[in-house]
Amino acid sequence: MFLIYTDVDGVLTTGQKSWYKNNDGKLQNTKTYSDRDTVPILLLGDQLIWISHDKKVNEDLAVYRKVKFEWVPEGESKLERIRGLTGEQPYTYIGDSLQDMECLCAAEHAYVPANASPILEYALDHRGAVHRKLKTKGGEGVLEEVLLDLHRRRVINLNTMIVNKYGFRIDNRVADDDEVQGDTS
Ligand SMILES: [Mg+2]
Repeated sequence: MFLIYTDVDGVLTTGQKSWYKNNDGKLQNTKTYSDRDTVPILLLGDQLIWISHDKKVNEDLAVYRKVKFEWVPEGESKLERIRGLTGEQPYTYIGDSLQDMECLCAAEHAYVPANASPILEYALDHRGAVHRKLKTKGGEGVLEEVLLDLHRRRVINLNTMIVNKYGFRIDNRVADDDEVQGDTS
């Protein structure tokens, strides 16, 4: 199964915390993210895993957006966690900081946001890892650009993913319409 592991802060969110009132009127922390990532998140489903050293707000966000979330305590290796979860299975990784270096280097496809640390790029070049720097900044729709790039490179097929995700509903609607026509004729 095709898998994307992604860091959260600086990739899916800007890392900036803000407050909002939840349904109960209580103030709650959130982080700024882009709605451009909503469709990619829906299309990927279980194939997307957020992995982060920061638990509190990021886990809440993951629950809200129905995404698998792996919290790795500070000082523990994200790559070891990935190996523990999915073994040697190839994966795509998106990360923006030196803490993501190991995971980026071991990934089959590695991406860094436009505003990732330039030091990270030098280090990746030095290690000869296959990686791409995105045009999108962290928190502004990184996942969307990654999916479009993977599609262009024929690693994934967005058309198939869309049919798999929404085809069933479309079939249902056609069946319902037929029934209605049958009843009235
Ligand atoms: Mg980060």
